Amino acid sequence: MEKTFAIIKPDAVERRITGKIISKIEESGFNIVAMKKIWLTKKEAEGFYAVHKGKPFFESLINYMSSGPCIAMVLEKENAIADWRKLMGATNPANAEAGTIRKEFAIDVEKNSVHGSDAVDTAKYEISYFFSNLEFCE
Ligand code: UDP
Ligand code: MG
Repeated sequence: MEKTFAIIKPDAVERRITGKIISKIEESGFNIVAMKKIWLTKKEAEGFYAVHKGKPFFESLINYMSSGPCIAMVLEKENAIADWRKLMGATNPANAEAGTIRKEFAIDVEKNSVHGSDAVDTAKYEISYFFSNLEFCE
């Protein structure tokens, strides 16, 4: 079964909507096979978002992602990578479809409440960045 990596970002944890987001994940048929609360250092956030280094939003993104705790999760489902991206909605909530998490909860294009891997190789890398084999329940 396909796995993907998900984060409930600091803006959502701070507003105490992690339960609402997790409900949507479970109602959509994903199994949460690993989960933990983690407060990223700037260095850890920079490593995670290394592909965006040099972009105009990078520094602000790193400050935001290290501003408070996140919930990191591994989600499992057939077609998990594409289906989680679909449930998240577009990066900018102004462009997100109705019924998506970002449409319902995101504050703006940066504080957009959730992260999801965008391909098989990035899912693999991101899962291993946050979780060891001992942390999976399958
Ligand atoms: N981001 C931002 N401004 C932008 C684009 C992205 O602040 O113009 C932030 C936002 O939090 C986004 C993250 O950087 O989720 C990673 O960007 P990406 O393009 O990978 O979007 P995602 O894959 O999260 O939809
Ligand atoms: Mg991305």
